[in-house]
Amino acid sequence: MATKKDYYDVLGVNKSSTEAEIKKAYRKVAKKYHPDTNPDNAEAESKFKEASEAYEVLSDSDKKAAYDRFGHSAFEQGAGGGAGGGGFGGFGDFGGFSSSGFSSGGFDFEDLFGDLFGGGSRRSSRRGPKPGADIEQTIQITFAEAAFGVDKEITVQTSETCPTCKGSKAKPGTHAETCSKCNGTGQIKITQRTILGNMQTTSTCDVCRGEGKVIKEKCTTCRGTGKVKVSKKVTVNIPPGIDTGQTLRVNGKGEAGDIGAPDGDLLLTIYIKAHEIFKRDGNSVNMRMPISFKQAALGAEVSVPTLDGNVKLDIKEGTQTGTKFRLQGKGIPSLRNPKVRGDQYVEVYVEVPKNLSATQKELLEKFDSNTKDSHQPEQTKFKQRLERLFKK
Ligand SMILES: [Zn+2]
Ligand SMILES: [Zn+2]
Repeated sequence: MATKKDYYDVLGVNKSSTEAEIKKAYRKVAKKYHPDTNPDNAEAESKFKEASEAYEVLSDSDKKAAYDRFGHSAFEQGAGGGAGGGGFGGFGDFGGFSSSGFSSGGFDFEDLFGDLFGGGSRRSSRRGPKPGADIEQTIQITFAEAAFGVDKEITVQTSETCPTCKGSKAKPGTHAETCSKCNGTGQIKITQRTILGNMQTTSTCDVCRGEGKVIKEKCTTCRGTGKVKVSKKVTVNIPPGIDTGQTLRVNGKGEAGDIGAPDGDLLLTIYIKAHEIFKRDGNSVNMRMPISFKQAALGAEVSVPTLDGNVKLDIKEGTQTGTKFRLQGKGIPSLRNPKVRGDQYVEVYVEVPKNLSATQKELLEKFDSNTKDSHQPEQTKFKQRLERLFKK
């Protein structure tokens, strides 16, 4: 496995950075390497993933504390986790200490870590039946789907229990035989004499690789793996308020586990397609809207698009370019509580008319000849400043 970059380096922050600083740094990096702005750029995509992963850890006080103490090993599964074991695979709920880590005399450091950080007891042991690997996948959704949530049917390339041998790995009609070396326990005990007395350590049986059984005639459908590759349709419920770079864990939708072991999970990372009008910033929706010179000067009621459809906005007389209007509660629902919504901000800019006819030009000249200083206070102020500057 390639060596991983330090999470703090990835985001350009340090251990003493505040939550807000980490969030800000993540936004910056995520924006820069976002797949929408870097289409077909594998390097950007990997940097984007790297940043999301770093943020997932550093934004969570429990995970951050674990990372500060143990580094990346805090999130690695025990050896033998296989190809699917890296990346996001280690993020689970804290499982707490399991007594099995200490039981048979042998102190198994990796097992202990597996228990602490690998998603609880279901991943606790490398012995016996192996749980299925997690599958990482990405999905693109629209701006509105991210805002309000959506059920998406996706296709996952995964594995399921072999239909021929039902996962036994043995050719139908034959059986796996109990391993003669470990008598089916999957473990070998070794007693060593030390100055402290006899010490017993346990290791995985090398003949059956800890499974306790040896298969003489392998199933030909699955070549003795107990699993076959399939492409499965999975419906995923994407909650309202989800943002780009966030990963959903769909329990049990990963690769099939051995008989008696759970299936892996599906880890689905969300990308939101760029919207033509709306831009998202956390739970706020930002947009820019052109208005005419007349609307800006005389005021107008204009129609503004929102996630809930068009709403009326009152533009006051004398509105300038850059004026921002806030539409309360028209933003993105909060992921934690969808009843709480952010706001929408509408920044207007005045479009200067172009391609005027001779009559229109004439009218504007007439209009301008009647303009007084009080009609354009900014220009008046600017002129006065200039005069003062050059008098000295
Ligand atoms: Zn089979
Ligand atoms: Zn054995």
